[in-house]
Amino acid sequence: MCGCEYNHHSRVEVFDREREDGQTVIKTPGSNVVRLSKFNPSPRRHAIRIRMECEDGHYWFLNIIQHKGYTILVPDFDVMQD
Ligand SMILES: [Zn+2]
Repeated sequence: MCGCEYNHHSRVEVFDREREDGQTVIKTPGSNVVRLSKFNPSPRRHAIRIRMECEDGHYWFLNIIQHKGYTILVPDFDVMQD
């Protein structure tokens, strides 16, 4: 992580599938738009991705992933901008 203590959540995306390994659609709370997606933080099931922004201008994602019956919280810093 960038080291900044002050992080805020912003956009939330829900990666939904009709069934395991099915086509992913992205739903955004507060919007009626549903987008098809090849990307999903969960390789086979559902996920929720929360964009986090620090007060120094960096951002990263907190992914909540369904995997084989488990729910896993995974920070994603690969997108972090300096
Ligand atoms: Zn930061």
